Amino acid sequence: MARLVMKFGGTSVGTVERIKNIAEKVKREVDAGNDVAVVVSAMSGDTNRLIDLVSDVSSIHDAREYDVVVSSGEQVTIGLLSLALQGLGVSARSWLGWQVPVHTNSIHGAARIEDIQCEEIIKRFADKQVAVCAGFQGIADDNRITTLGRGGSDTSAVALAAALKADRCDIYTDVDGIYTADPRIATKAAKLDKITYEEMLELASLGAKVLQTRSVEMAMKHRVKLQVLSSFEDLPGTMVVDEDDILEHQVVSGVTYTRDEAKVTLQQVADKPGVAALVFGALADAHVNVDMIVQNVSEDGKATDMTFTVGRMDIDRAMDVLEKLKDDVNCKAIVPDPNVVKVSIVGMGMRSHAGVAQTMFTALAEKGINIQVISTSEIKVSVLLAEEYTELAVRTLHSAFELDAP
Ligand code: ADP
Ligand code: ASP
Ligand code: MG
Repeated sequence: MARLVMKFGGTSVGTVERIKNIAEKVKREVDAGNDVAVVVSAMSGDTNRLIDLVSDVSSIHDAREYDVVVSSGEQVTIGLLSLALQGLGVSARSWLGWQVPVHTNSIHGAARIEDIQCEEIIKRFADKQVAVCAGFQGIADDNRITTLGRGGSDTSAVALAAALKADRCDIYTDVDGIYTADPRIATKAAKLDKITYEEMLELASLGAKVLQTRSVEMAMKHRVKLQVLSSFEDLPGTMVVDEDDILEHQVVSGVTYTRDEAKVTLQQVADKPGVAALVFGALADAHVNVDMIVQNVSEDGKATDMTFTVGRMDIDRAMDVLEKLKDDVNCKAIVPDPNVVKVSIVGMGMRSHAGVAQTMFTALAEKGINIQVISTSEIKVSVLLAEEYTELAVRTLHSAFELDAP
């Protein structure tokens, strides 16, 4: 007998048929003698629809009311799944975030879970009752509803697994595991049996939305056994594991991309102490996150170009801030470019292998793809490219690092 958290994403609960289908899956685990808590997302498309409704009513809105609206999709699916389970003779009840309760901070739209009190859920396990919990939502200290950011149900599931001290957290989705690249754009992507927390954390934060970044962070911190698997087929999925559980580390385990960033170039900015501090200080004050940065050495010691990336959503705010600084830093022009993509390779083996970046740059050069900005860390290399090369770059790197499925 084990204690399990089973999480089902939007596509997995996208129709009544699918909800009935996952009820069968849950029943099988209950019949096998396991204690089961389920976390569900809204039906696919519903959260987008709710966000659009909010935008239609008001473009600048009260984030607390935004959360009230967009959290409502999950209320529908917990009720429907509980009914489907009851229809199969399984004892089940629904739990909204505040009913559990799932306590969060009050950063509406991107709240962080602080604590989950699950004594009542555990008590009901003794009567074989399944807890069907709404993902993506919680409650702040002032009793207002919060949401956790897009893809947040993954984090709800992992947090609940940690609080319940569950034996495993299974993330059921529309692919049968974690692949070496997004299978929707890399047709030769191969399914991984295992991947380390560290690699999955990098992949998620660099764009692989199969797991929300925070869910991996939390699983790593609390050592939650995490599996990604298909809600449609009965196949083993991919386990996210400790570094020591993998004998031989791949140099590159995966390729990923994100279109969430935009590039900004400050042309001919003064090359003197304090300029970078001024520019990035002002952006930080305006809550604009900066990711990749390059600055060339000036030839004459007077002026140089400075290029960096910000979130694509933040580009207008960043431009407002930078226009105000233009004279202070003696800059000729500020050029925004939203049509860029960041493509990254990730792998634990990189730590002990030389020449990885070289292989990456050569492969891209052979396809005539120009690299605009580069950034590296211990286990990843990222390059910024023109957006039109997204698919070509991902497929090229996937082949260059011999990741293509046979
Ligand atoms: P859910 O609604 O179940 O949460 P998501 O759409 O959030 O599902 O995540 C699953 C999707 O993640 C897949 O359909 C796939 O296109 C995408 N994805 C991106 N990178 C990867 C990867 N490396 N491995 C598997 N899936 C990936
Ligand atoms: N329904 C929310 C979203 O679409 C949360 C989730 O699915 O994980 O982002
Ligand atoms: Mg998701």
